[in-house]
Order: sequence, then structure tokens, then C-alpha cells
Amino acid sequence: MASSVQQLVILGASGDLTRRLLLPGLGTLLAAEPERKVEVVGVARTEISRDDWRATLAAALEDGGASEPVIKATVARARFEVADSTDAGDLQRVVAGMRPHAVLYFSLPPHVTVKICALLEGMERPDGLRLALEKPFGEDQQSARTLNEQLLRVVPEDDIFRVDHFLGRATVLDLLGFRFANRIFEPVWNAQNVERVEITYDETLALEGRAGYYDGAGALVDMLQSHLLLVLAMVAMEEPSRIDHVELRDLMVHALRATRVADADPVASSRRARYTAGVVDGKEVPAYASEDGVDPKRGTDTLAELLLHVRNARWEGVPFVLRSGKALGRDCNHVTVTFRPVRYVPDGLTGEPTPNRITLDLRPQRITLDITTNAAGRNLELERTTLAAELGEPAMRPYGEILGRIFDGDPLLSVRGDAAEECWRIVDPVVAAWRAGKVPLDEYAAGTERPAAWAARLGEGPPLSPPDP
Ligand code: NDP
Repeated sequence: MASSVQQLVILGASGDLTRRLLLPGLGTLLAAEPERKVEVVGVARTEISRDDWRATLAAALEDGGASEPVIKATVARARFEVADSTDAGDLQRVVAGMRPHAVLYFSLPPHVTVKICALLEGMERPDGLRLALEKPFGEDQQSARTLNEQLLRVVPEDDIFRVDHFLGRATVLDLLGFRFANRIFEPVWNAQNVERVEITYDETLALEGRAGYYDGAGALVDMLQSHLLLVLAMVAMEEPSRIDHVELRDLMVHALRATRVADADPVASSRRARYTAGVVDGKEVPAYASEDGVDPKRGTDTLAELLLHVRNARWEGVPFVLRSGKALGRDCNHVTVTFRPVRYVPDGLTGEPTPNRITLDLRPQRITLDITTNAAGRNLELERTTLAAELGEPAMRPYGEILGRIFDGDPLLSVRGDAAEECWRIVDPVVAAWRAGKVPLDEYAAGTERPAAWAARLGEGPPLSPPDP
């Protein structure tokens, strides 16, 4: 049985993720659910004194909105261990201090995580140990499979929490209520009615000192391969009869298994680009290639677009376009579902009907629906009307949502091993085509929308799917 104090042991506690996302996320969890008792154990090679660790924790919990008594109690329980977790002796010492059902959180570069998992295999471990791993899970389908096999030698699948914080985003979860708790959307959520789906995550943020990680990944691997494909799975999946970790994740994998690069052509179905110097929000941004820590010869993409098809009866022929980039002209994070035009507009109505379009903004959270109405004061003339609803602030940040589930031993919001492998299976041919130089690395000036050569979006033009029956 789980102890009433939940232990969270963070390997790599000196790093960026811990400080910027994980601990403040915990703060939002403890603000929303102050009855939870958590012992936070930081582990890193960097010497951090107990007082400094406690001060870091207190600041992060405060940032997350936890109350003073909760912060005080959590900080009093916290401790820090200086250890190199890749050293068997050090790791054994850390593991020996873990309680049953402790969460071991790998806030580490992925290659370090792999090493530590191998060491864990040969060690005595606490009962009910839970492993929380950050993306990327592997670097292609094969390495993801090998990592999954290795993890399963340490703990069972339901105790492996592959974290993708997009699954903790309230708007992504809102997709479930929106799709399945309304009479009017689900019947038209298919290729007969939908012309195109776009999942976009454009950021004004440039590299911001993350070259060490980002230059080896790029937009395709950092964003599309993990986050945006999981959003696609939520948009495209069949209807669950209940929301639990078995059914939701079964259906997400079902959708991912049907997903592939359009026309099996990774060259025609993908585009990549890298930003040159420019101005974003009035601030000068240097060219990506000249940023500290970037190796320009690597040709890392900072903007990626991918055209996918979900090959099943519901979605056959509908283009799903995934796109994400850095240092762009505006932040634009949304799922857009564009519907086919009506088959017939009565004679006598003037003007073109605008296509119905549903947009779910991920940040800030908002749903908008574009419809066609008669223009005010000009009764037989058509015009576009937009209905919009703000969804309000979520109770927790994504890392709070996800940590809460991990503490409860519920993998609902964690990526199952087969889903992680499927995501790589979808993008592996694109990565190979890019590495082989078959897709040019275009350029866009920081602060602009896209390279000049990308006038039309991928998959734009006449519908790729057959016309309505
Ligand atoms: P960092 O590069 O900041 O590394 C975290 C810590 O890992 C370091 O502080 C260091 O601690 C330890 N470390 C680094 N190299 C080694 C090594 N060779 N051997 C042992 N320990 C090492 O990573 P982040 O905190 O940015 O990210 C952690 C994980 O989270 C990564 O998998 C990343 O992909 C993922 N992630 C990060 C996000 C972010 O915004 N930062 C967002 C989403 C996911 P020390 O030297 O003190 O032991």
C-alpha cells in the first residue's frame, strides 16, 4: 500500500526542466490539492546545499501558487543528495533510501537515462517503484523499442510514466469533452465532412540557450514526433466508452497505427527550414546558425511541416498537417478542423459561404467556430460569423496534472510504450530523407511567418479526398 507521504526522487535536479517546469508544476498540484504530502529528493552531481535546494523548492512551489503552510511542510521534508547516478555505487545509495511506490523521475539527458536504467536492472529496488521518463523516448523506432524492453525488465508497463506534458494540457484534454460529450460535432468528425486538419505550434521564442539539446533534435523531433502526433491521436481517435488508461491509450495507439506520411512519400510530404537573423517582438534575434552551441553543419530545422494521412474509413484522404517552428512572427498554437463546403447554396443568397471551421487554441485556451450567417442589415447576403468561448484558466500546469496522476499510480496521461514506438515509426522515413539531403533546408527571417517559398501550405489546394457521395 502506498505510504501517505509520496516520495519524488528527481535525478538531474540541478537542471533546467526541474527548476523551470517540474517543481513549479508540483506547486500547482499542491495548490489545487493541498492535502497531498510529498517528499522531494533532489539528486545531482552538482553540489547543492540542503538550504539552497530547499530555497529553490520553496520559490518554485510559491510560483505554482502553493500555500505557505504547504510550502513550509514540503520544504521541511525535502533533501538533496550529491551523487552521480551513472555510478553503480552512488545509484545504489540513492535507491536504498527510496520508499515503496517512490517515483524516480529522470530529469536527465536521454542517453544518461538509458545508462541508469541498465544499472537499475541489476539492483534491489523498492516495491512498486515508478519510473518517470522525459521525452525523447529513444531516437528512432528501433531504439525506442530497445528502451521499452529495457524498462520492462525493471518495472511493469503500468509503472512506467513516459511524460509528454502536452497530454497534461487542459485544452488537449478538452478535446475529449468537446468531441464526445456533444451531439453536434462527432457525427461530422470524419472524411465525409472534414476537408483538412491542422495542428500547429508556432512560437516566437527562439533558441534561448537550449542549443545543447535542441541542435541535436530540431523542430521535427522536438515537437512533431512527440507532442503534435499525440494531439493528432486525440483528434483522430475513435470514441472511447470510458476514459481510463487502458481504453484511452488503446484508442490513441489505434489512431497512430493508422497514421503515415502522405502517399508514402516523405520528400513531397515534408518541409524544413531554419531561421536567419531577424526581429521578433521588437527584439533582434541572431541567426540560428550563429547561436552559441549550434553546429551549423548539422542543418538542424527550426521549422518543420509534415503532411500525414490517417488510413482508416473515418479519415481516408483527409490531410493532417502538423507544423511547428521557433522564432516566428507570432505565437500560434492550435488545432484547426476545416469542414467541406456545403453541397449547394440556394439561388438568391449572394456571396460565398465561408467554410465551417473549429479552432481549439491551446494557449490561451479558447474554442472558436466559424459559421456563415446572413449579413446584418443585408438579409440575403452571406458573411462569416465567429462564435468564440474562452475556456478559463486550468487549475494546474501540465506538469502538475501529470505528477498528480503519477502519484496516484494512474498512467492515463503517460505515453504508453507502443505509442512512443509508433510516433517514431511515423517520422523515421522523414528523418532519413532529411539526413540524406533529399529535402532542402529553406530559410526564413526570424519574426516572419514562413520561408517565402512556402506560399501554399502543404496539402492545400483541391481536396485530396474523394468528393462527397
Ligand atoms: P539538462 O541538460 O539541464 O540536464 C539535466 C541535468 O542532468 C543536469 O543538470 C546534469 O546534472 C545532469 N547531466 C547532464 N549530463 C549528464 C551526464 N553526462 N551524466 C550524468 N548527469 C548528467 O536537461 P533538462 O533539464 O533541460 O532536461 C531534462 C530532460 O527533460 C531531457 O530529457 C529533456 O529532453 C527533457 N525536457 C526538457 C525540457 C526543458 O524545457 N528543459 C522540456 C521537455 C522535456 P549534474 O551535472 O548536476 O548531475
